[in-house]
Amino acid sequence: MKAALKVPTTFNYRDIGLRVGLEIHQQLNTQHKLFCSCPTLLVSDDHLKGLSPFLRFLRATRSELGEVDEAALFEYQRKRAYMYLTPPNASCLVELDEEPPHMLNLEALKIALAIALAFNSFIVDEIHVMRKTVIDGSNTTGFQRTAIVALSGYIRDEEGTVNIQTIALEEDAARKIDENDLFVTYSLDRLGIPLIEISTAPDITTPQQAKRVAEKIGLMLRFTGKVKRGIGSIRQDINLSIRGGPKIEIKGVQRLELIPKVIEEEVRRLIGLQMIQKLLLERKASAEEIGGQPIVDVTDILVKSSSKLILNAIREGGKAYALKLPKFDGILGIELQTNRRFGTELADYAKQWAGVKGIIHSDELPGYGIDESIVSELRKTLNADELDAFVIVVDKPEKARKALEAVRERCIIALQGIPKETRAANEDGTTRYLRPQPGAARMYPETDIPPIRITPELLEEARLLVPPPVEIKLEQYVKIYGLSNELARQLIYSEYMPLFEQLIKIYNVNPRVLALLFTTVSGELKKEGINIDYLDDAAFHKLAMVIRDLGELTKEDLVILVKTVYENPQTSINNLIDVVKMRKAMSVDEVRNVIKAKIVEFQEEVLKRGEKAFQFIMGKVMNELRGRVDGKTVATIVKEELEKFLKEVKKRES
Ligand SMILES: [Zn+2]
Repeated sequence: MKAALKVPTTFNYRDIGLRVGLEIHQQLNTQHKLFCSCPTLLVSDDHLKGLSPFLRFLRATRSELGEVDEAALFEYQRKRAYMYLTPPNASCLVELDEEPPHMLNLEALKIALAIALAFNSFIVDEIHVMRKTVIDGSNTTGFQRTAIVALSGYIRDEEGTVNIQTIALEEDAARKIDENDLFVTYSLDRLGIPLIEISTAPDITTPQQAKRVAEKIGLMLRFTGKVKRGIGSIRQDINLSIRGGPKIEIKGVQRLELIPKVIEEEVRRLIGLQMIQKLLLERKASAEEIGGQPIVDVTDILVKSSSKLILNAIREGGKAYALKLPKFDGILGIELQTNRRFGTELADYAKQWAGVKGIIHSDELPGYGIDESIVSELRKTLNADELDAFVIVVDKPEKARKALEAVRERCIIALQGIPKETRAANEDGTTRYLRPQPGAARMYPETDIPPIRITPELLEEARLLVPPPVEIKLEQYVKIYGLSNELARQLIYSEYMPLFEQLIKIYNVNPRVLALLFTTVSGELKKEGINIDYLDDAAFHKLAMVIRDLGELTKEDLVILVKTVYENPQTSINNLIDVVKMRKAMSVDEVRNVIKAKIVEFQEEVLKRGEKAFQFIMGKVMNELRGRVDGKTVATIVKEELEKFLKEVKKRES
């Protein structure tokens, strides 16, 4: 019997009591790190090659109160070792925890104070650096240093004011490079880069409001002109709950546009889990019955399957185990998020707790080379009746058993509804199980760093960095830079705003041309698969110098310039100037002449191919003109000239 349970996809968010809080982490673009004088730069993969790693094991994580932290236990049971790569130009003995931290970076503190002022927060009298336990090896010390700078601010929004609980300054974690069952490898370049953390109260009530608030916070941060840009420089965590459910944490939403989608998908999952709970209770499922199910070796049955995956795993010493899930028939196939079913939730637990690749469940059978007769044999062996489901895992015996134990535990929790989890956001806006939630953050004072008093002088300096309101900023952009309202808005909302201002200051370039580069041109290039976010600051400085030297440039000039730098970041300024000059030199008539000449030169080939000669001539012409004229223009003219040529030949023949 398949349960015809369908989880709705739209909700009245007020009716279900949605409450969302945001935690925004933004890297600051300071001269040096928060507790040492290393620069705040990430090194390239090439620079990591050949570095010999430092090996560490996870320290014991027993709390002073003696209770076991679920999240710590989760990491601990994986028994993995941690390897740290230490790029010499971006890490020192402080990151390795072999030298005490230096005093808190005052530049970072001033930026944080400015942000606190912008959000109407109460600034603390004295900054106390604290240690917050981390359990995933992302810090060599076993804790993250963090300091609360301000409390109780707010941000206005059309759907209601959202309170800002805390603004903190903290060190970024080490950068994960690689992980497997035995090791996690981190690079220490990112460890210690200053992060500002802004945590809102769970006052947000709709997905769109969450996006707006995140956008406003991001904007304020960029308006200081002191934040990093690019992938991973801002990270948004979401916590949310619906009425009657626990608070779910979702880590690592990297794109702002994804925020509403992540909330919508997650709400759907939570509602779905409540529906599943109800259904299970109606069917009289019981924790005792689920918990009492044995894990059964079904290798003998599954060797009869025609699944290469299963047969290979068994040949390599794996075994197939199955677990009956009483009263779960049809439930594992219920879709909770786009393309994610309850079965996917179980698979997440199996993967995270036991490191298996996945599970097979009865709601997707027959399938995977497992036919009807094998299914009924499995049902018979497991003593499963039509209301029962089952799950199979094929792997090394210890791993497979552990995976099924995790599945069994997860199914018992299904009777209580929604488990309290830390999840991760996927690229498509769905979420996946990451680990249990850690207990209340344990904080200890960092005794190596003396407290810092917030003096009137420090506050005065911070005040100079307080960003203006958006409306004022827009007005300035229109007035000072002569930009249109639309262009000004686009630029202000893009993460290139600080760089734009910086380049104008240094090179005194034409603001309209530069604005075009960061808005229209960048947008068009993205459609062609060229993402300017991957260019570093040096590339933009180079482009700014070309713009300065050439003055007026068209959109097409800019496209070619960016493409050239994108393909060859080492290219010289002179070369870039030549590229534009060459392009400018080609008029349509000149292009037409080149094309005509090519057709004549290859007329034999053209006649042989007739209308199909287009690609051939196109290739010949583009070889000569690449970079000087766009393919679309060439294509149009080649078509015209070919037609003309072929028509004339025909006329002559007849
Ligand atoms: Zn350092």
